[in-house]
Amino acid sequence: MRVMPSTVAQAAAWAQTLGLPRLDAQVLLLHALGRTPHDRAWLLAHSDDMLNATVQATFAAHVQRRLKTEPVAYITGQKEFFGLTLHVDPRVLDPRADTETLVEWALSCLADTPHPDVVDLGTGSGAIALALQHARPDAHVCAVEASADALAVARANAERLALPIAFHHGSWLTPLKGCTFDAIVSNPPYVASDDTHLAALKHEPLSALASGADGLDDIRCIVREAPQLLKPSGWLLLEHGFDQAHAVQTLLGNQGFVNVQSRPDLAGILRCTGGQWSTVE
Ligand code: GLN
Repeated sequence: MRVMPSTVAQAAAWAQTLGLPRLDAQVLLLHALGRTPHDRAWLLAHSDDMLNATVQATFAAHVQRRLKTEPVAYITGQKEFFGLTLHVDPRVLDPRADTETLVEWALSCLADTPHPDVVDLGTGSGAIALALQHARPDAHVCAVEASADALAVARANAERLALPIAFHHGSWLTPLKGCTFDAIVSNPPYVASDDTHLAALKHEPLSALASGADGLDDIRCIVREAPQLLKPSGWLLLEHGFDQAHAVQTLLGNQGFVNVQSRPDLAGILRCTGGQWSTVE
């Protein structure tokens, strides 16, 4: 077994030889050093610094956890999302940069609506709701979550970031009876329950990932319930799997949504689909 060398540069290189991507190695090393993930330039400037034994042991243990596919965010306890630092742990899905596409789309849909009413369904860590509230301080943002454990994480993030989200515990739109929204936004579970890809996501809550035989059970439910809670011309915007854009477009079209369209993620894959609710007969 290779012994981990003891300078900053050698430690980062060692983790990479074990198979970690450079960015993961750098973020984990910064964490072991008690520095923020923004400090990657510091690693370069201090490449010859010696690591003390505690930092070495912590870094080595964290590298082993990452090699067993645990998300970096669970190891460091935090994730950057839309410019916000969120606290995350295994009670919530690790927020993905791809989900920023959904936030950007929602913000553009709401750009001309003063004081918009918005809800994030299945908020998890609170990522989408918090990003929207931060970008639009005039918005009234609600967030719904069925998992009490996840809701505790989201509430703590909102409190720490001083963002006034109204949280509701429950399933999809059920806790919101009587409310109406300019936009309903969601990154629901959408992986098929027998998808082999789930094995690689074993550290994350299955309830945030899997959704029935074709992965669309929760999306079908949201599409069915949303019209009752959308204002005229309100938007329903959904994240979904890499191959589900057509199916989600069809669900929205069949339900009576208009202006149905999809947006690509950072890899150019159609990752979000949405439409407007039209009350015009
Ligand atoms: N984007 C995640 C993945 O497939 C799944 C997230 C979700 O189901 N909402 O890795």
